[in-house]
Amino acid sequence: LVSRDNHPERSTVRVGGVPIGPGTVTLIAGPCAVETPQQTLEAAEMAKAAGATLLRGGAYKPRTSPYAFQGLGEDGLRILADVRSETGLPVVTEVVDAHDVDLVASYADMLQIGTRNAQNFALLQAVGSAGKPVMLKRGMNATIEEWLMAAEYIAQRGNLDIVLCERGIRTFETATRNTLDVSAVPVAQRLSHLPVIVDPSHSGGRRDLVLPLTRAAIAVGADGVIIDVHPHPEQALCDGPQALVNGDLRELARVMRQLPPLL
Ligand code: PEP
Repeated sequence: LVSRDNHPERSTVRVGGVPIGPGTVTLIAGPCAVETPQQTLEAAEMAKAAGATLLRGGAYKPRTSPYAFQGLGEDGLRILADVRSETGLPVVTEVVDAHDVDLVASYADMLQIGTRNAQNFALLQAVGSAGKPVMLKRGMNATIEEWLMAAEYIAQRGNLDIVLCERGIRTFETATRNTLDVSAVPVAQRLSHLPVIVDPSHSGGRRDLVLPLTRAAIAVGADGVIIDVHPHPEQALCDGPQALVNGDLRELARVMRQLPPLL
């Protein structure tokens, strides 16, 4: 269903009216985690002012340590919905448990499947039936074939509004959190008709790499990027070292406008 063999034209997925697909490079930005109403609104206003058209933000956080901030749950979803009303930005947010899919879908414009759940087949099937577009991150240990088969689990439930997100894979390298596999973008676009975006924030895990990795993503033809921003990264409860502040995001958006999308 997601193969390009039976569907030669590349697809565009619309999220609350915002297109992700060929001919455009969509900028999605927002906080890694929803922490407070004010922090989320400030991050969303930064995102909107820079030209982002979709808001990201996690209410359910899949953390490596059980002692780390796990997200605000439904309170976080309510904050996202309020911030959407204030800014007009449609919301992309992660769901980590099949039992929560209907709840998260009742607030979100797009459901995110994170790298750790990229082969959680029950969750993939549940989001496939939820009636909302899905952003499917690549499992950090998944081959491109496994990633596309994960997308097939969603598509098989009747949902073809799927955006693939390359977010880095686990390699021997320790200088970065994960290794951004830039070649995955054109490879996945040749094998599948689905749009492919890149997450330079979670792949590198470092603020100084977000702009160069964004340039790389656009150079290889990514259909969008998803970027962490925070009004006060030093106080962030999750992934502060990779969050951009206002000026950095504006600069990134300026660079993006100068790099035309590859069709
Ligand atoms: C995220 O985008 O919030 C996230 C946790 O990303 P990943 O699943 O790619 O680590």
